[in-house]
Amino acid sequence: MSDLTKMSAAQLAKAIADKQTSAVEVATAHLDRIDAVDDRVHAFLHVDREGALAAAARVDAGEVTGPLAGVPVAVKDVIATKGVPTTAASKILEGWRPPYDATLVERLRAAGTVMLGKTNMDEFAMGSSTEYSAYGPTNNPWDLGRIPGGSGGGSAAALAAYEAPLAIGTDTGGSIRQPGAVTGTVGAKPTYGGTSRYGLIAFSSSLDTPGPCARNVEDAALLHSVIAGHDPRDSTSIPQPVPDVVGAARLGATGDLSGVKLGVVKEFAGDGSEPGVVSAFHESLEALVKLGAEIVEVSCPHFQYALPAYYLIAPSEASSNLARFDGVRYGLRTGDDGSRSLEEVMSLTRDAGFGPEVKRRIILGTYALSSGYYDAYYGQAQKVRTLITRDFEAAWQSVDVLVSPTTPFVAFPFGSRTSDPYQMYLADLFTIPTNLYGGPAISVPCGLSEGLPVGFQIMAPTMADDRMYRVAAALESTVGTLTPPTLEATA
Ligand code: GLN
Repeated sequence: MSDLTKMSAAQLAKAIADKQTSAVEVATAHLDRIDAVDDRVHAFLHVDREGALAAAARVDAGEVTGPLAGVPVAVKDVIATKGVPTTAASKILEGWRPPYDATLVERLRAAGTVMLGKTNMDEFAMGSSTEYSAYGPTNNPWDLGRIPGGSGGGSAAALAAYEAPLAIGTDTGGSIRQPGAVTGTVGAKPTYGGTSRYGLIAFSSSLDTPGPCARNVEDAALLHSVIAGHDPRDSTSIPQPVPDVVGAARLGATGDLSGVKLGVVKEFAGDGSEPGVVSAFHESLEALVKLGAEIVEVSCPHFQYALPAYYLIAPSEASSNLARFDGVRYGLRTGDDGSRSLEEVMSLTRDAGFGPEVKRRIILGTYALSSGYYDAYYGQAQKVRTLITRDFEAAWQSVDVLVSPTTPFVAFPFGSRTSDPYQMYLADLFTIPTNLYGGPAISVPCGLSEGLPVGFQIMAPTMADDRMYRVAAALESTVGTLTPPTLEATA
């Protein structure tokens, strides 16, 4: 058997089903890899060795079958896992063990996947670099001195470091796609409501979307098909069949895109993107044209307002969602020595438990929602959101998908964007419009700039997730997947 940690999820599932290897062997290989490299990568906040080996043993005993039976998966720490620590990378939830599984975790278990542990992230999924984790950053396997993206940097780094073949992320403004882009992996944000939010620790409820992360497009599609689908426990879950994303990825892999129209967003051109990112993007467009695709320039005039609208809507919803962390119901409680009022204990707990970025968002959101300012800020941002949705709907009259770089810059060095929050927010310039609209989008590696990965983003209409997988797989068929330098060599 070749190195099990280098195999794709599809190959692992087949090898286990064909009894060429066992689920326990596969889990052990990945747990050993985590032991060997995670002190340098820090992709994981918690490794569930016992739970993983027990789940793998159930697969080997034939108790669980399914398309991904025995394949390891890493889960972002913002997702509730029964009995397994879940902190959202915040001190305020340190030590919390949820009494239930998120719907998507139930589905992962039912499909026979083996959960290795919980991955690092920016606190409460707020950030683009994982530097806002209360437990220290994750290091990008391509260059350990650089960020792995965020908020789901742990999930993406676990893939790039061969610690897991599959991972789960959540995307509120880009937190699956941007980490995918800067680690040379694939990250897909499904249609909002296409994957259940039940059991996600809420950041911005009208935007939060869990989705798959993998090292190639077919694996992402396989994971997508396992976690997606209607869930009556989530009121915004869409009661429609899941698009055939696996079929679409396999079709795309044949390398034929004849008749497919790709829209290049005019307003994104020259928007502060690094030259290496722009040239990798244009080379990819040329490669897609060779496969038969047609390129059409599309104007989306309101996309330029997406970032400011997002930074009113997301913090507003966060300020409300994070009110539940009050020192009474979950996790941390500070100053409860009998001498203080309830309000004082809540205030001390929140002061000690939340990091600076989370506090910044709560203050911003509370302000934007307060009477007197609501119409000027939150109300206005909601109107902009409608205009952005109309830009997408107008685009679908002339093209099948929209394309752009995933993020304007490659992985940046630690500390280079933390002093100015706006510099950090710019990482999501190209990903946020999709979240405000609610459609699906995927980031797929498209080359290197100065030795670091560049991501290509494909955005599709709501519930047409299959379309983006087809184009992504076609691009992958010509540019190939990226192989990060071995950590052994960069150590
Ligand atoms: N980077 C964005 C933010 O900080 C997006 C985060 C996310 O998608 N969870 O809000």
